[in-house]
Amino acid sequence: MTLLVAAKIVWAAGCIGWYVIRLPFERKVKRERVIDARDRLRELVLLSCSTMGLGIVPLLWATSPIFNAANYPYSLLQFVLGTLTFIFSLWLFRRTHRDLGKNWSVTLEIKDTHKLITGGVYRHVRHPMYSAFFLWALAQLILIPNWIAGPAGLIGFGILYAFRIGREEKMMLDTFGDEYRAYSARTARLIPGVY
Ligand code: SAH
Repeated sequence: MTLLVAAKIVWAAGCIGWYVIRLPFERKVKRERVIDARDRLRELVLLSCSTMGLGIVPLLWATSPIFNAANYPYSLLQFVLGTLTFIFSLWLFRRTHRDLGKNWSVTLEIKDTHKLITGGVYRHVRHPMYSAFFLWALAQLILIPNWIAGPAGLIGFGILYAFRIGREEKMMLDTFGDEYRAYSARTARLIPGVY
């Protein structure tokens, strides 16, 4: 087996792992009553950007020759670092889902029983699930030796993050007021103590 085939397998396994972690929570939140949903259509467009960058483009790279002109030489170090980053992102993703529980949603929503979570990994940063997504995108960048499919995840998820984060924090402020203001004052967004 070549290193490149191994990279494709790790990438595919990572995506499946992501899905397996998410699935039970998708089922769980279906039972919740939504009392505030914001910019649903806009959110769906942003989600498509993210899916394109983290899913479709690397899938095309792995299964077809269309991005072959943008391939570059690969190294074992890159494979190992990419794999470790992927594992770390999956670990964090699972933690955030467990901590957020029924309060999680794909688009911007508030449930009738919504609670502000400030414990677990949410004690350190306000958006650890987005940190996990950025780590996934970083893993893709390191794992895939292609100038298009490698950075596609960072671009796709970066667009979602850039156009969502301000509106998500505004929604949380509108819902939780001073509680969220105080929480924001003592936490960073994505990287503890940095940003
Ligand atoms: N931005 C968070 C959550 C992503 S899921 C993260 O990256 O970890 C998006 C939904 O989570 C939003 O619709 C919002 O309702 C909810 N949410 C975000 N932060 C929350 C928190 N601290 N406590 C409870 N719900 C939260």
